[in-house]
Formats: sequence, C-alpha cells, structure tokens
Amino acid sequence: MDYPGNLFVVAAPSGAGKSSLVKALLELDSHVHPSISHTTRAPRGQEKHGREYFFASEPEFDAMVQGNAFVEWARVHGNRYGTSKKAIEERIAQGSDVILEIDFQGALQIKKAFANAILVFILPPSWEELRSRLERRGEDSADVIEVRLKNAAIEMAQVSKFDFVIINELFERALFDLKAVVHAQRLKYAAQRRARADTFQSLNIT
Ligand code: 5GP
Repeated sequence: MDYPGNLFVVAAPSGAGKSSLVKALLELDSHVHPSISHTTRAPRGQEKHGREYFFASEPEFDAMVQGNAFVEWARVHGNRYGTSKKAIEERIAQGSDVILEIDFQGALQIKKAFANAILVFILPPSWEELRSRLERRGEDSADVIEVRLKNAAIEMAQVSKFDFVIINELFERALFDLKAVVHAQRLKYAAQRRARADTFQSLNIT
C-alpha cells in the first residue's frame, strides 16, 4: 500500500547516538512525528506514560499481542517492546511523516509490513568510541556494557539490510545526513506530485 506519508525507521546499537539524533530531528522538523511504542519495562527517570512510551504490564502486553495490535514486537535487553500498527497507519495515511526508533529486529519486521518504509542504520565511528560512549553515559554497569557491546556486533552485522547508513562521528554531520534522508524522500516524484499539485498543473504536466 502506498501511503502519502513517509515511514522512517531508525535502528542502531546502544550508544551510537540514535535517540539524540532522532530527538534533534523532531525539534527541527515539525512534519515528522514520533511513534510511541509500548513496553513492559519500568519508566526511567522523568519518563512519562504516553510521551516516551506507553508502559504496559506483562498481561496487558500479552493481550495486545493476542489482539494483533502490533506490527512488530521484540524482546530487547530482557523487556518487550512493540509498535502499534494502527497508530502508524493512521498517521501516514493522513500524509504525516512518522519516525520509529526501534531495534534492528523490529526495523526488519516493519519493512515486511510497510514495504515503502525507509530503514536507516546509525553506526558508531569505531568500537573504541562506542565503548567510551557507553561508559561516559554512566547508565550501565560494566557487565551490562559488555552485553551491549556483544549485542552491538550482532546488530551491526545486519546493516546491509538497511536503505541508508549514517556514521555518527560528529553529531552535527550525522544530523545533517539524517535530515538529508528525510528531505530526499520529500523530493520523490510521487511526493512532489502531491505536495506541489498546483505547480504541476500550471506547467501542464498531466
Ligand atoms: P530503551 O529501553 O533504552 O528505551 O530501549 C531499548 C531498545 O528497544 C532500543 O534499541 C529501542 O530502540 C528499542 N525499542 C523501543 N521501542 C521499540 C519497539 O516498539 N519495537 C522494537 N522492536 N524495539 C523498540
């Protein structure tokens, strides 16, 4: 199905800077909307229900799985996360762009359900930098960091299945690249035909 809005899916290993990049894009571009996932993990810090995530109990999450509410769901670092199909479909059908920040398994599932989804993978510039970002972040114990680095190797092995790759060495450069990916989709023929119908008409392009 060809929807008027774009669906961007951004995946990356933890520590690659995915959340900061998506957050900065959302601040700059009011036409891109985040999709809020459901998760069974507990809220962290200032997180609010319905803002970062919809926090769900295990039975609530099970009920959504049974009811086919998720276009994809995955277990990530011991918790379950899922993307509601309805929320995405409604938005892109209205012509809004939606961005999903999910793990690589979810990204590949999304592509199966939405063939036109644009998959973007964020890579760190090196293993040393990835490790030092995880350490600097100070959120995880040494053991958890080792697990995250092991998972990162598995995740990065999937990069060839993505449409775009952004190497997050300098934040501003990576943000420029992400904006370029978003902008390029809006310049595609079908998108321009819709957005600039008046121009096409005045040029007598049928
Ligand atoms: P965190 O608990 O740190 O917010 O997220 C952990 C991981 O789960 C991140 O890689 C995040 O992108 C991923 N994630 C968040 N929401 C979803 C979702 O709806 N589906 C999938 N598959 N992964 C998600």
